[in-house]
Amino acid sequence: MDLTEYIRDIPDFPEPGIMFKDITPLLGSPLAFEHALDQLMVPYEGLQVDYVAGIESRGFILAAPLAVRMGAGHVPIRKPGKLPSKVERIDYALEYGTDSLEVHLDAVAPGSTVVIADDVMATGGTAAAAVELMQRLGAEVIGLSVLIELSFLDGRSKINGVEIHSLITY
Ligand code: AMP
Repeated sequence: MDLTEYIRDIPDFPEPGIMFKDITPLLGSPLAFEHALDQLMVPYEGLQVDYVAGIESRGFILAAPLAVRMGAGHVPIRKPGKLPSKVERIDYALEYGTDSLEVHLDAVAPGSTVVIADDVMATGGTAAAAVELMQRLGAEVIGLSVLIELSFLDGRSKINGVEIHSLITY
């Protein structure tokens, strides 16, 4: 199955100059969605995965079903101010300005193995921040899985020591 047929390009969203990779056609197809989940799991076959952490918000759509399929827990990595209990927070630089991510301090036990999932890796800043956040909790991040990698933005250069698995590369 060619998953690229289920990714829609929306020009100039959310800002002029951005080519938005819209995954809703993939999510709307039970066959394509299931195929994507099957493929995202392949690198972790035979490995102990304690948690699959999703990056708000489209990461949740992938991380939650992956967690259930792998017999792992799901950890939401959220935008600031959304999580009700005590959090670890990371601030990271964007092209213009900064952004932040938070995770519950007690989301994972130290030494747990964690896979991080998101829909798109663009510049890699968000994924790198998520990796560091989980590592600060003492987790061992054993992989970063994304549906789509925009390789021309070289996000990989920001992620050190963690395997990156992408299903579609542009
Ligand atoms: P970055 O930190 O630049 O890798 O941006 C990653 C975050 O922004 C991910 O959570 C994506 O969901 C979103 N994102 C960035 N660029 C795009 C794009 N061209 N299409 C869809 N989502 C994007």
